Amino acid sequence: MRRSADELAKMRRAGRVVAEMHAATRAAIRPGATTRELNEVAVAVLERRGARSNFLGYHGFPAVICTSPNDMIVHGIPGELVLEEGDIISVDCGAIIEGYHGDAAYTTGVGEIDAASRRLIEVTERSLWAGIDELVVGHRLHEVGRAVQRVAEAAGYSVVREYVGHAIGTAMHESPQVPNYWPGTPGPTLKSGMVFAVEPMVNLGGFETYTLDDGWSVMTADGSRSAHFEHTIAVTDDGPEVFTLE
Ligand code: MG
Ligand code: MG
Repeated sequence: MRRSADELAKMRRAGRVVAEMHAATRAAIRPGATTRELNEVAVAVLERRGARSNFLGYHGFPAVICTSPNDMIVHGIPGELVLEEGDIISVDCGAIIEGYHGDAAYTTGVGEIDAASRRLIEVTERSLWAGIDELVVGHRLHEVGRAVQRVAEAAGYSVVREYVGHAIGTAMHESPQVPNYWPGTPGPTLKSGMVFAVEPMVNLGGFETYTLDDGWSVMTADGSRSAHFEHTIAVTDDGPEVFTLE
């Protein structure tokens, strides 16, 4: 689906709210903070900007952000979990402005983290940007996943298969999906005005996952750490425009 200039303007505004949620939650991450506190910080940003949450109530999800520490890949529910020095934490959040959605995620360390975790985070973010660089008019969509996979696997990591990126607009999750790996076909041809959420989930170990009994928390099967980065990006005649930059 191609968005008009007016629609893109609304998505740009939604993206700025998401970026502000990122900055505010980042500033609150420290040893001793709870993931519930990070959610409250994000709620305050949404209220200040007059934006609605696309996470709260999504299939019953009870918060405006997902908080996923260490070997949790995505979809963690904020709560009483206390962040500890050396943890890594992924924060995923979104916002709706005038019916248009933004969606983005980052992973960061809590205090000092080990070199392996630092490298995982750095490579995952780099894999996202390699994917974003493929969002060019006339390219095929699945070049995004091929680029993400190349960066992650060259570093010795794996990319999660069961959870993928997506088109985004008047709903958070629209078709088509955006895999973080080469799915065997090139996918649709990119046109200006298309908007996607690209979101590599990269594991230190294998790509297999399982879900906790809460029905949400997605974990690495081998207990290895996982990082997650996401931006909402428009394909434009001038190249990719990232709406959710901090
Ligand atoms: Mg997200
Ligand atoms: Mg997403």
